[in-house]
Amino acid sequence: MDFFCQSLPGRVRFANGCIAQTGNELQELGIAQALVLCTPRQRTAALALIDRLGPRAAGLFDQAAMHVPVDGVARARELVVQTAADGVLAYGGGSTVGLAKAIALETGLPIVAVPTTYAGSEMTPIYGLTEGGLKRTGRDPRVLPRSVLYDPTLTLELPLALSISSGLNAIAHAAEGLYARDGNPVLGLMAEEGIRALAQGLAGLLADARELRARADCLYGAWLCGSVLGQAGMALHHKLCHVLGGAFHLPHAQTHAVMLAHTLAYNAPAAPQAMARIARALDCRDGPRGVQELALRLGAPMALRDIGMDATGLDRALELALQNPYWNPRPLERDALRGLLRRAWSGDPVA
Ligand code: NAD
Repeated sequence: MDFFCQSLPGRVRFANGCIAQTGNELQELGIAQALVLCTPRQRTAALALIDRLGPRAAGLFDQAAMHVPVDGVARARELVVQTAADGVLAYGGGSTVGLAKAIALETGLPIVAVPTTYAGSEMTPIYGLTEGGLKRTGRDPRVLPRSVLYDPTLTLELPLALSISSGLNAIAHAAEGLYARDGNPVLGLMAEEGIRALAQGLAGLLADARELRARADCLYGAWLCGSVLGQAGMALHHKLCHVLGGAFHLPHAQTHAVMLAHTLAYNAPAAPQAMARIARALDCRDGPRGVQELALRLGAPMALRDIGMDATGLDRALELALQNPYWNPRPLERDALRGLLRRAWSGDPVA
């Protein structure tokens, strides 16, 4: 079992109510005053955080948006300069953390993140920026948050549908991490435990979306799955979701929810150990089927046709998926992939 392992640096605090530690965390990192970032929807909560921070808050930029448009980044950067902020504090989900990363990429300022969804971006050095309708992504160690405060109480109001889709999206990162070419035994442990915790937490949310224990399970799983995404290369599943989101504008998290069971079934013959670990994490006999049953139980979308995909686009999606493919444990076979896309479009049981 040969492997190479390079863990990413970063501090993590995980506790109910740990948002109260944010000021101390800034101080420990040597940040005198941070610009707080959020989406318009989370403005009230971000203002409450600013109240708590007192002089350690440089100001508020409340226009974080999906896919990190570059004009928003430019406006936030202006505010960084105006307020002489020496750090950024992202309060929110993947979109807000994405804005913090774009600022850090240009300025080198340190990021502190307070995640309020299960996307996991706070644990990765991956950034994305959208300009003229095109999204460009990359990796840079400067965009990895220096410190992350996971406070499950902040996720109590996260709508159930968004909780489920961002949770299934996180599970996809861990699932592909289990067969990643650059995986290692520690990432394997994190991935399996991340899938288990999220599956358990999401099932708990179905019974009661305000159950703090279930919220903590989900956030703990999100931390683990995000860490896997930050350290392992992704494969066919992420490539297909990237194509479907980029060229056909399908919603990001819902596309992951539909596709994951089908791409895992495609890869199953080439990655039996990964599938066994997914099955163990979900306490079922078959990994891909277990993922599909979980999505069904959670009421997640099950078919591409239900989330805006036109059947006439499937051939183009296939061609795009075959261009510049990511490494994958099973070679990309045109006919088998066509079948995969058809089944995902119809919402058929996994093959
Ligand atoms: P999001 O950040 O876009 O948030 C969705 C909506 O939920 C927003 O309106 C937000 O204000 C609201 N919201 C967030 N937390 C809330 C809470 N606790 N209560 C009530 N409302 C809340 O969604 P997301 O799923 O967190 O992030 C998706 C984005 O993150 C995608 O663009 C994806 O590409 C990116 N992402 C990046 C990485 C990476 O490593 N770079 C990893 C995962 C996801």
